[in-house]
Amino acid sequence: MSEKLNIVLFGPPGAGKGTQSTFLIERYGLVHLSTGDLLRAEIKDETPLGLQAKELMDTGELVPDHVVVGMIKNKMEANLDAKGFIFDGFPRTQEQAEALDEMLNMKSTPITTMLALEVPEEELVKRLLGRGADSGRTDDQDESVIRNRIATYEEKTAPLKEFYSAQGKFVGIDGMGDRATITGRLVEAVETVRAEQD
Ligand code: AMP
Repeated sequence: MSEKLNIVLFGPPGAGKGTQSTFLIERYGLVHLSTGDLLRAEIKDETPLGLQAKELMDTGELVPDHVVVGMIKNKMEANLDAKGFIFDGFPRTQEQAEALDEMLNMKSTPITTMLALEVPEEELVKRLLGRGADSGRTDDQDESVIRNRIATYEEKTAPLKEFYSAQGKFVGIDGMGDRATITGRLVEAVETVRAEQD
C-alpha cells in the first residue's frame, strides 16, 4: 500500500471544495493543490499566463489542459516530501485526469480516492452569488457566468466520475448540510478507504 494520501476533492463550482479542503488539510497534513487558486495568483501578479487565463475564467470556460497540468506538476515537484495532496478543482477533463495518473504513477503514489461533493444546481447558484458578494471574485458575481461554469462542469468534468469509478475510487458525498457535518462525511469516507487498504 502507498503511504501517501492523495485525494481528488471533486464537485461542481460552489460545492464546497475549497472550504472542505481546509479541514482535510488540517486533519491529514496534506498539501493543497487548487488550480483555481494558482490561476488567481497568476492574475494578481499580472503574468502573461494570468492575463491569458483571465479571459477564459471571466466567461466560465476552462483554461487549456497543458497550462494547468504544468502548474500542478511544478507544485508537486516542489512538495515531494508531502504526506499527500488534496487536488481541488483539478482534474477537470479526461486529459488532465490521465496526465495526473501518469505523474503519480511515476512516483508510485496513486490517487487514494475521489470524493465527489453532490449539491443541486439551484443551491450552487445561490452559494456562488453569496460568495461573489463577499469575496469580490468576478466570476461569482454574474449569474450567466455561473450557469456557464456549471454547464462546463456537466459537459467536461462530470464524466470523470466514470474515470475514477472504473478504478474503484469514486465516492459520492452528500454536500448539503452544515460545514462540520459535511467534513464528518468526508473524514468517514477517507477512513473507510484507508481501512480497506490495510
Ligand atoms: P475554481 O476556483 O476551481 O472554481 O476555478 C475558477 C476558474 O479557473 C474556472 O472556472 C476555470 O476557468 C479555471 N480553472 C480552474 N481549474 C481549472 C482546471 N483544472 N482546468 C481548466 N480550467 C481551470
